[in-house]
Amino acid sequence: MKMILLGPPGAGKGTQAKKLIEMLGVPQISTGDMLRSAVANKTALGLEARKYMDSGQLVPDEVVVGLVIERLKEDDCQKGFMLDGFPRTVAQAESLEKSLNQNGVGIDAVVAILVDDEELVGRITGRRSCNSCGAIYHLQFSPPPATDECSCGAKGLIQRADDNEITVRQRLGAYHAQTAPLIEFYKIRGVLKSIEANAKSPSEVFELIKEELKL
Ligand code: AMP
Repeated sequence: MKMILLGPPGAGKGTQAKKLIEMLGVPQISTGDMLRSAVANKTALGLEARKYMDSGQLVPDEVVVGLVIERLKEDDCQKGFMLDGFPRTVAQAESLEKSLNQNGVGIDAVVAILVDDEELVGRITGRRSCNSCGAIYHLQFSPPPATDECSCGAKGLIQRADDNEITVRQRLGAYHAQTAPLIEFYKIRGVLKSIEANAKSPSEVFELIKEELKL
């Protein structure tokens, strides 16, 4: 299964990706995670990407496309993959399509998880994650077992640098201007599955995704 998870920031792509990869046995490829790791390791790419990420803008296409195309060549991606947060522009989608076509493959399904902006702001500003195992919580809707402690036992849950309200509004602007057109792009190709996720819990959304994908 070669899949893409599409949707605005805070729609739950990362949470659903984790549930889906467990079920499908394919790797999750999150460009956000790859870029954050480059930032943390202070690589040249990370230093370049950080300027955009901190202000809620998209990192230039040529930086991200190269990263993903290289990752997709690795052995674990040959039977399938779950792209989370990529593509985010029509140019990225076209580059991905071209690269996959060269290898005679295509995307099987694009799941778009749709949530209204006001709900997204509340979801993102309350989001906390575990630096050790990657678990994602929400202070109100999906709280950790103990204050500032993950179910894996690690202490000190973190808030992403770009999960503050000002940057979130900028990220939502980038989503509507640059990423939302991908819904039409994949609808035309007959692979789009849209999930309305307003006011739904992660497990309710997961059930809807399984239904759509006939899993
Ligand atoms: P995410 O974790 O997917 O919300 O991504 C966090 C930030 O990383 C975004 O606001 C962008 O600055 C950058 N980013 C992640 N994926 C992409 C992408 N496919 N294209 C451009 N920028 C990206």
